[in-house]
Amino acid sequence: MALKALDIFKLLPKTNCKKCGCPTCLAFAMKLAQKQTSLDQCPDVSEASKVELAGAAAPPIRLVTIGAGPGKLEIGNETVLFRHEESFYHAPGIGVMVSDALDGTALKARIEAIRKLKFVRVGLSMQANVVAVVNASGQAAPFAKAVQAAGTLDLPMVLMSSQAAHLNTVLAMCADKKPLIHAATDATADAFIALAKTHNCPLAVTAPNLDKLVPLVEKARAAGIQDIVLDVACPRVPDTLQALTAIRRLALKKNMRVLGYPCLVTNSTVDPLVNVAECGMFVAKYAGIVLAELDQPEQLLPLLTISQNLYTDPRKPIQVEAKLNAIGAVTPDSPLMITTNFSLTYYTVAGEVEASRVPAYIGVLDTEGTSVLTAFASDKLTSEKIAAFLNSDEVKSKVSHRKVIIPGYIAVMSGSLKEDSGWTVLVGPREASGISKFLKTTWTNT
Ligand code: SF4
Repeated sequence: MALKALDIFKLLPKTNCKKCGCPTCLAFAMKLAQKQTSLDQCPDVSEASKVELAGAAAPPIRLVTIGAGPGKLEIGNETVLFRHEESFYHAPGIGVMVSDALDGTALKARIEAIRKLKFVRVGLSMQANVVAVVNASGQAAPFAKAVQAAGTLDLPMVLMSSQAAHLNTVLAMCADKKPLIHAATDATADAFIALAKTHNCPLAVTAPNLDKLVPLVEKARAAGIQDIVLDVACPRVPDTLQALTAIRRLALKKNMRVLGYPCLVTNSTVDPLVNVAECGMFVAKYAGIVLAELDQPEQLLPLLTISQNLYTDPRKPIQVEAKLNAIGAVTPDSPLMITTNFSLTYYTVAGEVEASRVPAYIGVLDTEGTSVLTAFASDKLTSEKIAAFLNSDEVKSKVSHRKVIIPGYIAVMSGSLKEDSGWTVLVGPREASGISKFLKTTWTNT
């Protein structure tokens, strides 16, 4: 269990010297317990205390890095079971499997399909962020060829083979890219552990259940392997979900260090729709890497969307800049709509305005990243605030009329906004889907 502030305090020098920037040792202990500072800020802590505190301060789930350079994938180091308790921090790797049994043309097509799996959502870029090469041929040469082709994607790689010799061949080509070696079994543990040590790469271990997985992890740890990924290769999807949940619970709630590693799941369900649904479930609970055969945009986008939604910090909503934005070839007579700086709200409104082909201004108000109704309910979107924006130089210099469109959900504000701003207030649709019709009919007729 992580130490509480009082336990930490007992191990500190208790001189209240303030060298750590805290007024007292107790205040420092409280910050340390909340992971808001690090032990090295106290220069006087004893070596014995350091050892004790460092053990307790180690994350319950190790952060494992796969790949190297700017595109590296960091998984693990999660601290909660449920996102609303705090936040999920390290989004899973979501990737496509490439079989080395594909012929040259099919292999090239597969790699190009993966290369195109890039999307922009709420202003953020998303893509398949890992690629797994499967040694389905059982031979070394095709495996090396497929790894070479996958290497052109510049994504973190998972090398999947049951043959240590084949892995050794390809690792000689790409160990500097720190691929994940997948996966040591009971039968191959010694050879795979040796590979991971020789090439200094992370190692996945696999077993059909937790009872068989734990001794494998212990063996790898005893051999000095630190970057371990757990693959619970259960034959049934519900069993995999149960295993993933058990691993997260045991690591966080029981502090079982032997299970304190990120997990990997491969899903080979044939029906693509079911496969997407199952992979989405694994993204939510609690895979660090999800691999599937899916290489179509409509299959990957839902998974990346689930991941993006779950792995944004609920305490810090994604925000856009609060300012006057122009969509299309606007003129001073173009309509002016008001919305909030919550990213999802803004991009939904902007998307609908764009689709309407009616050039328009969107006035974005700073509501600390909250949506329209939340902002209104918490006094972050008030008539005074909108009035000040409407009468700002930024708006006056670009908009010649004095008609503003407000979201339908805050129709109740129209009277006070008219009074505060002197502008004519038009109540727009409640849902963004009604924007196009509103601009083409109601606005045009005003
Ligand atoms: Fe206490 Fe160490 Fe901070 Fe000094 S530097 S106040 S001894 S925790």
